[in-house]
Amino acid sequence: MVAESGSFSPSAGKPRLAVESWQALGVPLDIRSFDPVTRAQIKRAHDPVFVDDLLDCRIENGFGNHRADVAASLPYTSGSMLAAAQEALRNGVGAISPTSGFHHAGYAHAAGFCSLNGLMITAMNMPALRIGILDFDMHYGDGTNDIIVQLEQQHRVTHYSQGGQRRVSGGAFLYSIPDILKRFEGCDVLLYQAGGDPAIGDPLGNWLTVEQLAKRDALVFSGLRRIGVPVAWNLAGGYQSPFENVLRIHDNTMRGAARVWLSAP
Ligand SMILES: [Zn+2]
Repeated sequence: MVAESGSFSPSAGKPRLAVESWQALGVPLDIRSFDPVTRAQIKRAHDPVFVDDLLDCRIENGFGNHRADVAASLPYTSGSMLAAAQEALRNGVGAISPTSGFHHAGYAHAAGFCSLNGLMITAMNMPALRIGILDFDMHYGDGTNDIIVQLEQQHRVTHYSQGGQRRVSGGAFLYSIPDILKRFEGCDVLLYQAGGDPAIGDPLGNWLTVEQLAKRDALVFSGLRRIGVPVAWNLAGGYQSPFENVLRIHDNTMRGAARVWLSAP
């Protein structure tokens, strides 16, 4: 799952660092292995020629280069997201994929530190289910939307991306979360991008305090529990320096999930 992307984005290196940080929190973790997705599974969500060109390093990967280690990591990052969604569906509560770099990847293009869209690869490999995608990264999930439209999945995939909304105060955003969650009632499983880049101090965000981000996650996990929708969450963006600031945000998401998931229903 881990690669050196050779770019400004730390995303490709985050899975190991995030898991190591979580292991130090004292939260009981159950770390599972999983299978990478196959090319055939990836091609259910992306243009087949694009997939072959990307995985064979013939085109740019969204990080501004053609690195083979990034290409080699891609079936594992999307495989992790799919496995987390399947596990959340199975246990009825939730699971975590320590991944980033999905939502700007469209049907036939990589962009913005995103090579493949693991959210839509997951959705397209869970056919006949109602999938929710809640994207609270700082940026709009344009790649996700592109694939939903191109593959005509609007009837089955409910997508909400905060990045496309008019900028409101942090307090108003938190107040709106219960209403946002209502649109996911009836989903079989929800994929939640708990992006760290809205944080104050993030060069690409600079909007919400660390406390507001933790409150955001608490509202999401408790709200989904209330409506009975299992959730697979992942990391998405986060670009602060020092990188420990980003890890603190992902730590808080883990704490928020644990608080809700480990409490009696
Ligand atoms: Zn972002």
